Amino acid sequence: MIDLRSDTVTQPSKAMRQAMADAAVGDDVYGDDPSVNQLEREAATLSGKEAALFLPTGTQANLVALLTHCQRGEEYIVGQKAHNYMYEAGGAAVLGSIQPQPIDAAEDGTLPLDIVASVIKPDDVHFARTRLLCLENTHNGKVLPLDYLHQAWAFTRKKKLALHMDGARIFNAAVAMKVPLSTLTQYCDTLTICLSKGLGAPVGSLLCGSSEFIKQARRWRKMVGGGMRQAGILAQGAIYALHHNVERLREDHDNTQWLAEQLSGLGVEVIAPGAQTNMLFLRLPANEASQLGPWMKQRGILMNAGPVTRLVTHLDISREDLIRLVDLWREFKGRIATPGSGDGGARTIYG
Ligand SMILES: *Cc1c(COP(=O)(O)O)cnc(C)c1O
Repeated sequence: MIDLRSDTVTQPSKAMRQAMADAAVGDDVYGDDPSVNQLEREAATLSGKEAALFLPTGTQANLVALLTHCQRGEEYIVGQKAHNYMYEAGGAAVLGSIQPQPIDAAEDGTLPLDIVASVIKPDDVHFARTRLLCLENTHNGKVLPLDYLHQAWAFTRKKKLALHMDGARIFNAAVAMKVPLSTLTQYCDTLTICLSKGLGAPVGSLLCGSSEFIKQARRWRKMVGGGMRQAGILAQGAIYALHHNVERLREDHDNTQWLAEQLSGLGVEVIAPGAQTNMLFLRLPANEASQLGPWMKQRGILMNAGPVTRLVTHLDISREDLIRLVDLWREFKGRIATPGSGDGGARTIYG
């Protein structure tokens, strides 16, 4: 199958599996796992932070970050569609008694700072205490501009807020901007990174921050059940990913760009600005939206098709796969009767 549903579907390569099989391991709760320790050191260096923590998932990494930044009755400001508001089952509220203050993101994925300023609560018994601003980079495949990161950083210093970056795909941002990771991460107190998406590791995320922050986060990780034992097997997959799969993200970006051009050429509407990194969003007419997914699946292509369709490229998607997709898409469009062509506009796919 050619799987364009997400970059989470990547398979660990043979070489990655070999590195995992050969991992030196120990009990990481005792701090004894040399592979986890190596991964955490490398992550700290790459992100320009003092320390890092290896966790099983990005959701847990964000949760632990929130639990460490905010106490009960405190608040974080976050995008309405951000993963750590919308897609983490309300964990910060349920498990931390931390109140989210969601706001709409701008078209480019940034949270407008004048709106952020307007929702910061004054020191008054009526209100939760606002502690933290959470940004997401990339957000729906969009790269947050560097001058925005700089402004958000200066803003949070002035307002005495901490800044957490959900950087599940921050390496996509760094590669797209052709800058080292630390150029982006200098503008946040803490960040999370997913190793199990475009980087191709089977499991794992990182939380990076100051030594003191990571020390506290380590306790929260234990509390929520993320203290793993011989986790070096997973850490070696992650180290392999950091060493081999970062620069190649560029291929995914080039592939998305290419696909955007090809599909536009077929008359498919690409939602602006489109294809900055490894995600392409398309707007489909209702009849196409309902039929495209099953039609493609029968032909070996998996996608989350709908009125807004997201296609995601990753290390298991080649240019040849995309050529096949474009050919099939052309055939699909050819088989949809045009509106008003004798069937009252009800369009059907034949075959
Ligand atoms: C995938 C994702 C996460 C969470 O990662 P999981 O490992 O799936 O829990 C967090 N933030 C963003 C932006 C993501 O895309």
